[in-house]
Amino acid sequence: MTGPRMHRLHIQKDTQYMTEFKDLGLAQAILRAVEAEGYTTPTPIQGKAIPPMLEGRDLLGIAQTGTGKTAAFSLPLLHALGTDRRKSVPNTPRALILAPTRELAGQIGDSIRTYGHHFHMRTAVVFGGTSIRQQIHKLNRGVHILVATPGRLVDLMNQGHVHLDQIEVFVLDEADRMLDMGFIHDVRKIAAELPNQRQTALFSATMPKTVKGLAGSLLTDPIRVEVAPAATTAEKVEQRVLFVPKAKKRALLSEIMADDDIERVLIFTRTKHGADRVARHLHQAGVRSDAIHGNKAQNARQRALDGFRSGRIRALVATDIAARGIDVDGVTHVINFELPNEPDSYVHRIGRTARAGAAGMALSFCDMDERAYLRDIEKTIRQSVPVIDDHPFHAEDIANAHDARPPKRNGNRRPQKGNRPNGQSRGTRPGNANKPNRQRRGNNGGGRPRRRGNKAA
Ligand code: AMP
Repeated sequence: MTGPRMHRLHIQKDTQYMTEFKDLGLAQAILRAVEAEGYTTPTPIQGKAIPPMLEGRDLLGIAQTGTGKTAAFSLPLLHALGTDRRKSVPNTPRALILAPTRELAGQIGDSIRTYGHHFHMRTAVVFGGTSIRQQIHKLNRGVHILVATPGRLVDLMNQGHVHLDQIEVFVLDEADRMLDMGFIHDVRKIAAELPNQRQTALFSATMPKTVKGLAGSLLTDPIRVEVAPAATTAEKVEQRVLFVPKAKKRALLSEIMADDDIERVLIFTRTKHGADRVARHLHQAGVRSDAIHGNKAQNARQRALDGFRSGRIRALVATDIAARGIDVDGVTHVINFELPNEPDSYVHRIGRTARAGAAGMALSFCDMDERAYLRDIEKTIRQSVPVIDDHPFHAEDIANAHDARPPKRNGNRRPQKGNRPNGQSRGTRPGNANKPNRQRRGNNGGGRPRRRGNKAA
């Protein structure tokens, strides 16, 4: 693909946070660690959550991954525990962080170690799918902070290796996903072991009734902080949709990957087998790639993730659940090889790029069967997704099917060519052909050229 595409895929940076870390009241040792990480200003969730957490308040944080929420709870937690220099007690942590996936747990553990670098606090990360023996050994030696997935923690509790009665700070991260993954019973079991006198923070990207219920039972008079609701976070990511028949998606992907601007890309598929197929295809096409999903052994997942992080792997293909908690800086693009049927998943996916103020782009491949998903996504993010149609696999019928919605009165809805004024972009906002009087919002971000003036059929 040539010039115009390259231009379109280029990303602009934008950062606009205001408070400073030193104004938040954190210990010097933490400030030094944060500075060493290269953070200059707190993200909005950090600015809002850290002061009340330092006061010991319970917190309900509505924020998704990519907003800097890990540091938002880790820094005050380290401040609370790290400043009194108490020794760790075998099997009896002082802080517990629950995360839904092993990847997220691992990354939280890494963050805690990084931010707590000057405190010499002991942290353990425990999750399933890997040997329990080492985890037991570590717990026996004593840890201050335990990061865990619910299933493995319950196993360890049942075997008597973890006592939660001395927990001072309890953090439940990604509560919505935790419940989606069926962990509610484990979470309740764990919560029942915690002392009443404790500080609790619950983070969730969304607030369905189930999460509200859980928050109500775990939190006491919480401060509620909310940043970038799904729709606004989505706005930070440049989004595009490409209409393409299912059978042509792999060819389109190869075409797109020829663009060097796509430095580090996370590609989403709906199924695990789909992820393997796409990774294989890319591999054969000479793209350094790997797949990550629940069928893979933990060490294979970790290897893929490490390769992606180090830049050895350019394309990581993932399913929604496996990608949950993947925290890799500098993901320049997200490609939805298949659109998710849940708009929330779309928002989570595209949130893997444009992290913490950086910029990013999300490209979605949409076939005929996925039109309804696209419509739901556009409703949720409250914006239309501009179309790229100057690619070799652009499918007019799929593009037009959207325009023809909602009535499905007859089978052949292909509008005739030429019923639009010359040069007017149909691609700008799917669905707008039916709304001539409304301004086309899809063309935000400066109205880059989106299609050739005279496209070959
Ligand atoms: P999280 O939402 O916690 O997964 O964080 C998203 C990413 O933002 C991580 O890669 C962090 O390293 C990074 N990050 C967190 N806080 C800041 C900050 N204040 N400034 C710059 N980057 C940050």
